Amino acid sequence: MMFTCNIDSFLENELVKIRGYFYKLMANFPNDSFEKMLGERKEWLPLIYMSDEVIVIPKGNGPFDKQLGKSIKKGYSVFIYHEAVKEYCCKFHLENEYESALSMVLAHEYFHSIHRIWDEKAYLQDASPRKGISMERKHQLTESLADYFAFSWLSSHEGSDYMAVAKHRKGLWKEYAPANWPYSSALVFVNSPEIFFEILRLLKSNPAMAYRKLSS
Ligand SMILES: [Zn+2]
Repeated sequence: MMFTCNIDSFLENELVKIRGYFYKLMANFPNDSFEKMLGERKEWLPLIYMSDEVIVIPKGNGPFDKQLGKSIKKGYSVFIYHEAVKEYCCKFHLENEYESALSMVLAHEYFHSIHRIWDEKAYLQDASPRKGISMERKHQLTESLADYFAFSWLSSHEGSDYMAVAKHRKGLWKEYAPANWPYSSALVFVNSPEIFFEILRLLKSNPAMAYRKLSS
């Protein structure tokens, strides 16, 4: 469907499905504090704000230099920049997969929101630079986790438009890995999904080790 008008209700329905998929996937992540957080936030969903703003990322080293979405600390809400998503689709000839691309962005940002509820420090500068890691490295860790989750969500719909967007995204990870695009590290998880849980756990307990593991 090309650039549908009723994005809001589409995304609201989509978010419920994404949450269902998230709970199913994360059942494989045995972690007490994570389970506790999910238990306390049962059925919780972030608010979605649709924005037609187009924000250019100044020093992007990736294939697309506009922000597609964001997750904010306040209320762990999610922003979707639908005009930028449209541009993304046009640039990569995914005009007919606009809804799937929106769903990818929503899943990515939903993951960030839940992740930061559980591990806010992953999104903050470390108090002690000696013990912690740089924001650049944290960014690589959090972005690759969120992007892998979105990829995994899309890939759970075999033979659909979702799959086409997932394949395209994976192609970008490969193409831009030599340019050190932070999202490209998600490739690590495609080959070994258990590392996804391992990195998630390490990022909270020992970020430096999480980074070593991701880049080894
Ligand atoms: Zn992100």
